[in-house]
Amino acid sequence: MQLSHNNLLYLPDAQQQYQINTLPDANTTLWSQADNFQFGLPMSDVPYWLSFTLPTLKPFEHWLLELNNPFIDHVSVWFLEKEGLLDHYQTGDTQPFYTRPLPYETFLFPLPEYEHQLRIVMRISSEGTLQLPINLWPESRFLVFNGEHSILMGLFFGVLFAMGLSNLFFFIISRQPVFLLYAGYVFSFALLLGTMQGLGYKYIWSDSPWMQSHSVAIWANATVFYAIIFTSILLDVKNVSQRLHKVLNVLAILFAISLLVSLFIPKVWFLTPFLYSLCAISIFIYGVGIWCWYKKVHLARFYTLAWTPLLVSCLIACLDHLNIIALNISSHYLLMLGVILETFLLALMLALSVNHQRQQLFRAQKKALRKERDMRAVQDEVLAQQNNAQEELEYSVQERTLELEIALRELSEINRELEEKNTLDALTGIRNRRYFDKKYLAEVRRSRRERTELVVAMIDIDHFKRVNDEHGHLVGDDCIKFVAERLKKSLKRPSDDVCRYGGEEFAVIMPSTDLTGARDLLEQLRAEIQNNPVYSAGVAIDLTVSIGVASATMDPQQSEDTLIGFADQLLYQAKNNGRNCIIAKHLDNTAPT
Ligand code: GH3
Ligand code: MG
Ligand code: MG
Repeated sequence: MQLSHNNLLYLPDAQQQYQINTLPDANTTLWSQADNFQFGLPMSDVPYWLSFTLPTLKPFEHWLLELNNPFIDHVSVWFLEKEGLLDHYQTGDTQPFYTRPLPYETFLFPLPEYEHQLRIVMRISSEGTLQLPINLWPESRFLVFNGEHSILMGLFFGVLFAMGLSNLFFFIISRQPVFLLYAGYVFSFALLLGTMQGLGYKYIWSDSPWMQSHSVAIWANATVFYAIIFTSILLDVKNVSQRLHKVLNVLAILFAISLLVSLFIPKVWFLTPFLYSLCAISIFIYGVGIWCWYKKVHLARFYTLAWTPLLVSCLIACLDHLNIIALNISSHYLLMLGVILETFLLALMLALSVNHQRQQLFRAQKKALRKERDMRAVQDEVLAQQNNAQEELEYSVQERTLELEIALRELSEINRELEEKNTLDALTGIRNRRYFDKKYLAEVRRSRRERTELVVAMIDIDHFKRVNDEHGHLVGDDCIKFVAERLKKSLKRPSDDVCRYGGEEFAVIMPSTDLTGARDLLEQLRAEIQNNPVYSAGVAIDLTVSIGVASATMDPQQSEDTLIGFADQLLYQAKNNGRNCIIAKHLDNTAPT
């Protein structure tokens, strides 16, 4: 109901000299007339007396008187009729919540029933500014209003709570501090507005007038603190300007200190400077947004736009609180509107920022992937080249090995040939003395081992010096070759061997042969040489040979040289016997055969 403001009188009581029954009469000039019922009193802790009268209201309706400011420290209300006092209430922000006649977030007093005219006297004292909207509600209207108001509040705080909570969850999951800061900011702001609506006292800290008197300072400072750091991180101020980043950090610390200080000093000292600094910081943060926008920081443009409704509403609310301007609607509603718009826009910002970060991450990942792929390609190429080189190396090693093997084989062939050559006599082509010595040693051992008879014969051309002397050495050589050939041909067994033992001397070795057989064979040879002259240089040269044939089954006790020595002796004997003869003997049996 619209109250007639002609009716509303107020009286400052600086000396606190008046009581309800010592109040000066309403007609005296001590009382001033208020402009309207939505008036504000200057910031002071002077108590004020208010007085106004109500005409007869609908008798069947209950009425409620509301002081729509949850922060009034002390409120006393007297309902008076001519006959005297009808009702009296004493409550206030500094009293526990249960002292209120009705448990409502603002101060609500039920009007008593009266006959003709009701005089209402209030004594109000409060630290800080005093907004004092006074409303008179018919109970039915109030019920409707309260229903709508509650839904609005429920929606508003529900949205803020949900935003704060979801961002808290985002933080828990993503560990990105910007979510925590935003959640802190939203919760602090919600609590600040809840306090300003009187809801904090009603629902959360009902038993603590201390908390009620400090909660604005606590939540406002916390809100600004979170807003500053959130801005700094969201706009990546660190990368735009180190100095600005430091300034923001210092400001955040100052507001944290301000929060702590506000716990210990009276509200009135704190409130005015804080409201001014709040205006300043709001403008400053806005300026940071514009600066970052100018510096082309991603999202700075949207961020600045998001801040605009809040900043405007915040500034208006501050000016209203400081009584610089007067609003028609409650500055709380204006702030709430600003907050809800800003909260949504900032949440959108956050989503955009996270998306931007994710895209940057994707881009970086893609780049890294591409780099990795390139590197792998290079690696593969190097590997392929390495493999090729390895293959080539292996191939050339194989080639070289093969060549080496061939060379080795050739070498061993040559070696073998060389060895073979080494065992041959250059003039006659039969085995030489070196070979014979080895062969002789091997056969002696075999004879010992296998107990077989071994025959060794020494053959010497008779009077060869004479041949040389008469026909020359070349003819002599031919004669040696001739005898060698004959000797070679006469040996049938593969195990038999003949060699040129020296000059015109030959040695024959016949393993597993008995003396008789050997003697016969060599006898044939002797006769053959005797009967076949050598033709060389156009002359026929008659040759004879003397032969010593020795046989033995070699004894281990006997020296290896024994048999050959014996054969040599027999040759010597044959020479002595007149040459051109053969003497054959067994080693044990020295009798000639
Ligand atoms: P004897 O009947 O006692 O064996 O008399 P001889 O003259 O054969 O004496 P001796 O065995 O002592 O002499 C061997 C001679 O053979 C000496 C050397 O002039 C000759 N002679 C040795 N080797 C070769 C050779 O390779 N070629 C030629 N043409 N003569 C050789
Ligand atoms: Mg000789
Ligand atoms: Mg001789």
